[in-house]
Amino acid sequence: MRVLVGGGTGFVGRALTQLLRSRGHEVTHVSRQGGKDRISWEELSRSGLPLCDAVVNLAGENVLNPFRRWNDAFCREVVSSRVETTKTLAKAIAGAEQPPRAWVLVTGVGYYRPSTTAEYTEDSPGGDFDFFSRLVSSWEAAALTPGSPARGVVVRSGVVLGRGGGAISQMLWPFRLGLGGPLGSGLQPFPWIHIRDLAGIICHALESEHLQGVLNGVAPSSPSTSNGTFAQELAAALGRPALLPVPAWAVRAVFGAERAVMLLEGQRVVPKHTLESGYHFIFPDLSGALKDIVA
Ligand code: NDP
Repeated sequence: MRVLVGGGTGFVGRALTQLLRSRGHEVTHVSRQGGKDRISWEELSRSGLPLCDAVVNLAGENVLNPFRRWNDAFCREVVSSRVETTKTLAKAIAGAEQPPRAWVLVTGVGYYRPSTTAEYTEDSPGGDFDFFSRLVSSWEAAALTPGSPARGVVVRSGVVLGRGGGAISQMLWPFRLGLGGPLGSGLQPFPWIHIRDLAGIICHALESEHLQGVLNGVAPSSPSTSNGTFAQELAAALGRPALLPVPAWAVRAVFGAERAVMLLEGQRVVPKHTLESGYHFIFPDLSGALKDIVA
């Protein structure tokens, strides 16, 4: 299969590219920068979709970049890097002479309203209560255009855990020094997935000819993981204590109140359709996932 991956140079994209190539697929990235096996977004808009069998979009400005202040300009970049790239790909798919068969978009579990009690499946309502939920709604609406010639799948991902990037790369050094701990109360749910499973679910969606609609990209044990449990398990995997909670005010001071919601609140998300679709998780449990990452 020839697969075109928007944002394929990033953390998830690198894992996906490796998996797809290991399964004999050809991968081309759409990127802001030129390079081998890449095309630019301008080229895509100008010349249309290159011949391919499937398209994935993973492009997006890093929301939790601690070096970027949470202001209007950054919010616009966070939105447009996701929604505009998705619209560009959807338009190219709609206009292709030989359209691809599959079109997969990765969004986030921020679609569901944070709660310590509610459990959400792919059928649960959401998408209309704060900045992140509305972002996911417009991002998904940009992809799932009625009449699209390609089979559409949206993967709503939790926090992606893996080596060499993502949220865990910023947490590792304080935890290694024994200075890690839960964020805020630590009671908030912590929806997570191992990077090999997120890449695996995307690959499963591309290769399963009849699969379409929304899949939750979280581990099966994710609904029972709180931020406090995560801190304890990460510390245990590193052989360190996790005694020092990071107060909520400090998280808000670094990230800004609106963005801090992503860290101080969370959702209990169940991968119901993902499991029903026949996907077998490599890392269903947190301790196994963390041992793999920090070993
Ligand atoms: P990365 O932060 O690694 O970024 C992915 C790619 O997006 C980059 O390699 C870059 O490609 C492109 N990109 C970055 N900023 C911009 C911009 N301003 N405009 C256009 N393109 C840009 O993301 P991840 O791999 O971690 O995540 C992939 C997708 O999954 C993202 O959309 C993210 O929102 C979503 N997601 C990720 C989670 C996580 O925990 N990592 C959790 C839930 C959802 P290039 O430089 O080649 O243009």
